[in-house]
Amino acid sequence: MSPVMKKHAMPEQDPKVRAKNFNEVTLGYGEDTALAEAQRCLHCKTAPCRQGCPVEVNIPEFIQHIKDGQMDEAIKSLKSYNSLPAVCGRVCPQEEQCEKHCVLAKKGESVGIGRLERYAADYAREHGETVTAPQRAANAQKVAVIGAGPAGLTAAGDLAKLGYAVTIFEALHAPGGVLMYGIPEFRLPKAIVQQEISNLKKLGVVIEVNAIIGRTYTIDELLDEEGFEAVFIGTGAGLPHFLQIPGENLNGVYSANEFLTRCNLMKAYQFPKAATPIKVGHKVAVVGGGNVAMDAARTALRLGAEESYIVYRRSETEMPARLEEVHHAKEEGVQFRLLTNPLEVVGKDSWVTGLRCMKMELGEPDASGRRRPVEIAGSEFTLDVDVVIMAIGQGPNPLIQSTTKGLDTNKRGNIIADEETGQTSRPGIFAGGDIVTGAATVILAMGAGKKSAAAIDKYLQEKRQ
Ligand SMILES: Cc1cc2nc3c(=O)[nH]c(=O)nc-3n(C[C@H](O)[C@H](O)[C@H](O)COP(=O)(O)OP(=O)(O)OC[C@H]3O[C@@H](n4cnc5c(N)ncnc54)[C@H](O)[C@@H]3O)c2cc1C
Ligand code: SF4
Repeated sequence: MSPVMKKHAMPEQDPKVRAKNFNEVTLGYGEDTALAEAQRCLHCKTAPCRQGCPVEVNIPEFIQHIKDGQMDEAIKSLKSYNSLPAVCGRVCPQEEQCEKHCVLAKKGESVGIGRLERYAADYAREHGETVTAPQRAANAQKVAVIGAGPAGLTAAGDLAKLGYAVTIFEALHAPGGVLMYGIPEFRLPKAIVQQEISNLKKLGVVIEVNAIIGRTYTIDELLDEEGFEAVFIGTGAGLPHFLQIPGENLNGVYSANEFLTRCNLMKAYQFPKAATPIKVGHKVAVVGGGNVAMDAARTALRLGAEESYIVYRRSETEMPARLEEVHHAKEEGVQFRLLTNPLEVVGKDSWVTGLRCMKMELGEPDASGRRRPVEIAGSEFTLDVDVVIMAIGQGPNPLIQSTTKGLDTNKRGNIIADEETGQTSRPGIFAGGDIVTGAATVILAMGAGKKSAAAIDKYLQEKRQ
């Protein structure tokens, strides 16, 4: 393969060093590398890369601006489609989206679209970004946004730009959703998330933290008593699933959500300087094969675990985690126990001492199209661990659905909303992101927030007439 057919490598911290710190793993392109990578883009007229992007970023346009050294224009172009490019440039599954459709991918490696997006966003942040507050009428209509994750933040930003008086209600003590409490610092520095949020505040968005809708206020109170004329629900999928196997109530069993929230948002890694404790253990098993599992296994290593295992019942081919995250986890020393299904968490004196598992083999494809794991008789064994972290998926928290009459949900408890507008079964109430789709991706949540903001604008304009 000729060198130009390969993406320029991303500089990274040495795996041995980074496995012991929380600093960002990837360091970002420098100017020369970014320019050289931008030169690889062919500026195809049909831009197939755009079709793979859920918010249709004008990819050839922003790359052209990088080539021309017009960084202000590059970020302007990016931000007109995507309000969180520094976040998406780091965590979007580009290999499954824009980059998968890049024409260069047919013969070699796609253009490093995500890396260039990150470069432009970081350049803008480091060189000072100006945010101009939009004009807002004194009697601007009020919109409530519930949840300060990517869906809520995007909806709020777009609505504020359209002149609405927007308040975000966030249950936790810091806004950002999974970007703050789930994705670890070494993949997404929190300062970047907070900078994006401070830009949102400059647009006039008010953020009320520690405000749990369904408790602090119900949605009906927001609409009938607090003067809000429309509501966007972006409450995510924060309720962890468990395997329902014996021993899950032992001390030393965490959901990945709790483990990562304690570490990321509540600074447990600074215990006793920070009040939140975390038991890391010597040997940690993380059950699951997605990004959440990789994040938990890599976090455990950084917190001092001697062994950190991924226990996954299928093979590596079926793993839903991003390739880059699997690669980074392996480089750092996470050990993969594939085709391995947990049967029971075993313990002594109410603390975890092991994870009893069974070996699996792959059978015929199931409803998901992936080959079904089948137990191998007599292959039981016990993995010697003292902490078990469950990372097998999350569902919707039922609080809002149970306190809002007439809000239709599906059998999994997700809110039913129109794909194009976010309109729910209740007029004036819109929803989007993981609360509607189930656990998905940052960019899909942002896309849903964007569509809902446009639909809320239309709804409120019609209401005014
Ligand atoms: C550990 C982890 C790693 C991930 N890695 C990636 C990745 O690499 N790439 C990627 O694209 N996606 C990743 N994802 C998925 C991605 O983060 C989510 O799809 C995305 O954050 C969903 O956005 P959202 O706005 O719908 O919900 P969230 O980000 O979950 O935000 C919802 C917010 O609503 C708040 N809330 C909930 N209930 C209430 C209430 N009643 N009142 C007020 N506020 C409330 C929550 O506290 C939260 O802040 C990851 C997820 C996790 C958990
Ligand atoms: S498909 Fe690839 S080469 Fe073509 S415009 Fe998009 S990024 Fe550039």
